Amino acid sequence: MPRPRMTAATTAARSEPSSTALPGSRTRSPGVEESEFQTTLDVMLDSEATFPATRAAALARWQAFLPQATRYGALRNQVVPGHPHVTRLSPALRARLVTTEALVGSLLETCRFAAVEKLVQELVWRDYWKGWLELRPSVWSDYRAEVDRLRRQADPALLRRAEAVMAGQGGIAVLDGFTRELIETGYLHNHARMWWAGYWIHVERLPWALGADFFYRHLLDADPASNTLGWRWVAGLQTRGKAYLPRRSNLEKYCAANLLADPTGLERIDDSVVAAVPLPDERPAERVAWKPLPDAPGITEGSATPPGSWGLWVHGEDLSVEESALGQMRPDVLLSVFDAQRVAALGMAPRRIAYLKTALADGLARAGHHFKCPIESCETGEGLAEALARVAQERGLAGWVAMRPSVGPLGDAIPAIEAALARDGRKVIWCRRRWDEHLWPQASAGFFGFWEKAQRRLATQAAARAKSRDSQQPELLF
Ligand SMILES: Cc1cc2nc3c(=O)[nH]c(=O)nc-3n(C[C@H](O)[C@H](O)[C@H](O)COP(=O)(O)OP(=O)(O)OC[C@H]3O[C@@H](n4cnc5c(N)ncnc54)[C@H](O)[C@@H]3O)c2cc1C
Repeated sequence: MPRPRMTAATTAARSEPSSTALPGSRTRSPGVEESEFQTTLDVMLDSEATFPATRAAALARWQAFLPQATRYGALRNQVVPGHPHVTRLSPALRARLVTTEALVGSLLETCRFAAVEKLVQELVWRDYWKGWLELRPSVWSDYRAEVDRLRRQADPALLRRAEAVMAGQGGIAVLDGFTRELIETGYLHNHARMWWAGYWIHVERLPWALGADFFYRHLLDADPASNTLGWRWVAGLQTRGKAYLPRRSNLEKYCAANLLADPTGLERIDDSVVAAVPLPDERPAERVAWKPLPDAPGITEGSATPPGSWGLWVHGEDLSVEESALGQMRPDVLLSVFDAQRVAALGMAPRRIAYLKTALADGLARAGHHFKCPIESCETGEGLAEALARVAQERGLAGWVAMRPSVGPLGDAIPAIEAALARDGRKVIWCRRRWDEHLWPQASAGFFGFWEKAQRRLATQAAARAKSRDSQQPELLF
């Protein structure tokens, strides 16, 4: 009998200790049966219980993970059911139920930098990709245009093959298992993402943009920067000419043996047969100038709230606004909007929608508790811009204050939002966290230059923390 599946909403309610107690790696038995392989995949699929959708659950996960942070560097590449060697916090980090800054800060409070360097570095990769895309938004718009073009114009045989692979019928059992895991849990381990994307691009020879779109629709952590640029990196477009190839020997080294129990199709990724596809032509990424933003409106005039009546728009790119400089504001109302139009246009999977709704509800409730003002949430088919303009008018607001969405679907909505509000003489005051304001513009070239600059910042931050602890002064971050 099929086991009932939990939804993302129930995930939030489930207690952390039971999720961290999920079984880890199992050992291989030489003559493993199909039914046992199935059981292993079921264990993998049950990992849906392990993606915190509230801030409290994310912080609990982090606390539970901290004792193993020093072993992260050695174990992070191992792909085993339940994913015990990685944090599984990417959906929470993506929605900023918790921030990279807070996690890095807590790591450096409790551990020597050298002992946790790999984890800090991985956490900061998210910011590198964010900054890189923010400086080159045309890479995002070109990718979305390419997805639309391929859907309309690609060879029907190519589209049929892509559909088969996306349905888990590609023919390599272990990779088909990952496809099922992605669809049924909304998550894949980083190494599995690399193998899967490499297989799609270099073995199936399918267009990277369609594969990236498939991930984007299903991942709970779907992020325009990490996903688009992760795919481009595997294709060899990010570091031009350096593609990532999925090699059988690499899977055999890092994949739990029971996931490889069914060897069907593995010969297609034998080290000797996999070769990089030629790179597609594309226009060079246009680099735009960085536009600095304040971390809160009016803060330079000594007040965090501008004159007049303002609402705070809470959205899925930052669901802990009360933990930012905006926490000092006194908004008249808080609003979150679930934009059904945008979700439908992106073809988001139901599991991802459920996660987003739970996270939004959690972010709004916490903000309401902090700001002690009325809260409103709407699920609308009228469109995001129209909803923001309507509520601003109903509430007699001068406009909205919000964290500026980064490049991606929400960022694409910025011109329409500004125009809808301007119709009635209202406006939006965009803000950005200081962490982003300092780090993101540094993503001008490769990761390692960025990492060096980030480390200098982290050292300054750690020194400021130590000083503020000694002198009992308020803590200085960046
Ligand atoms: C093809 C491809 C597509 C990807 N798509 C996404 C995506 O849409 N959204 C997304 O958040 N990540 C994406 N990644 C990056 C990475 O796979 C995930 O962030 C990671 O697997 C999340 O699992 P975790 O939280 O357990 O990671 P951990 O190993 O526990 O790492 C902790 C945190 O560090 C950050 N991090 C770790 N590895 C990376 C990385 N390679 N790039 C950027 N940040 C990283 C994440 O915030 C992660 O939550 C993609 C990678 C590839 C190769």
